[in-house]
Amino acid sequence: MTSTTRETLTATELYAKAKEIKADLVRYRRHIHANPELSFEEVKTAEYVAETLKKFGLKPTVGVGGTGVVVDIGEGETVVIRADMDALPIQELNEMDHCSKNKGVMHACGHDVHTACALGAAQLLAANPPKNGRIRVIFQPAEEATNGDGLSGASLMMNDGALEGAKRVVALHVFPELATGKIALRSGPLLAACDKFDIKIQGKGTHGAWPELGVDSVVVACQIVQAIQTIVSRRISALDAAVITIGGIKSSTYRSNIVADSVELTGTVRYFAPETHVIVKRELENACSIANIMGGSYELHYITENPAVNNDPYVVAVVDQVASEMIGKENIEEATMKMGAEDFSFLSEKYPSCFVCLGVQVPGPLRFLHTATFDANEDALPLGAALLASSALALL
Ligand SMILES: [Zn+2]
Ligand SMILES: [Zn+2]
Repeated sequence: MTSTTRETLTATELYAKAKEIKADLVRYRRHIHANPELSFEEVKTAEYVAETLKKFGLKPTVGVGGTGVVVDIGEGETVVIRADMDALPIQELNEMDHCSKNKGVMHACGHDVHTACALGAAQLLAANPPKNGRIRVIFQPAEEATNGDGLSGASLMMNDGALEGAKRVVALHVFPELATGKIALRSGPLLAACDKFDIKIQGKGTHGAWPELGVDSVVVACQIVQAIQTIVSRRISALDAAVITIGGIKSSTYRSNIVADSVELTGTVRYFAPETHVIVKRELENACSIANIMGGSYELHYITENPAVNNDPYVVAVVDQVASEMIGKENIEEATMKMGAEDFSFLSEKYPSCFVCLGVQVPGPLRFLHTATFDANEDALPLGAALLASSALALL
């Protein structure tokens, strides 16, 4: 049977076509990498995405969930391909022609690659549209941040109807520790749930030489930090993965001879078992109550952010099958659970999904996500584009 008589192209055929358009994919990625925009500010990126989609003969809808872009290919039951478009407040330290032109802003989480791969998938599908359904490609804003209502881009897109009628969803994320040419898959939990908290400890400021006249909020804060460090080790089962990190501590004054009146702490909580956050919240309260015992007081704000990213076994099996046709079983690894979080979790909570780990390792030392020297191997672009397109076709 030749490709002209097939219902749709096979994974191998689509991968071959993706390799043919590699120069385009590199161009998309470099343009987006050179012009990064922060969460909720992806205006030019969205314009570029929409203009590029129009060149494929597609009719994108812009302004979805803020600066998001949505495009449909075909008619009928809908499978969604999702990419994210935002960058991070990091000053890039790489030296390449396509380095960030925007001071202090960098695509350090590879969302430039995700957007380029999704554009590539749309390009492949525009030329080879599904015969038996619709593939919707969504480009979401703000994966890395939340707005004043605590919502990030995935929720904003969902609230704006971008996922309406979706049967299944597929997305990918770059992983710099995974060899280029490989992917990693996992059924069930992949990325952790994520909450955050802010604590304000109120003491009583005084002269540094007369601490007995006040309540030293710095000493109280230190005791609380120590107590928080025992939550994971003493209050959560060793079989349930969890992390609590205090990311910042700030005293109301910073002088050698002043006892600070108050201290603020901020932290993140990562976990998989849904009940873990109930334990953590309760134990944070208990830890903070040290402030009362020591003569001060506290306020704790606990904010539940993302659930865990859970991959659906059937969707994973389909992606696994498609990927093995493209790169062979030997290049598909079983992904380990990771404590990182992703707002794709809101999609995977509602729709059977697969979040694929795409290997983008570059030669030399590890250049990790969220660092000023992060880089992704562009040789992975055709695989990313073809895998999204072909998986979506197979999931219809
Ligand atoms: Zn990130
Ligand atoms: Zn990311």
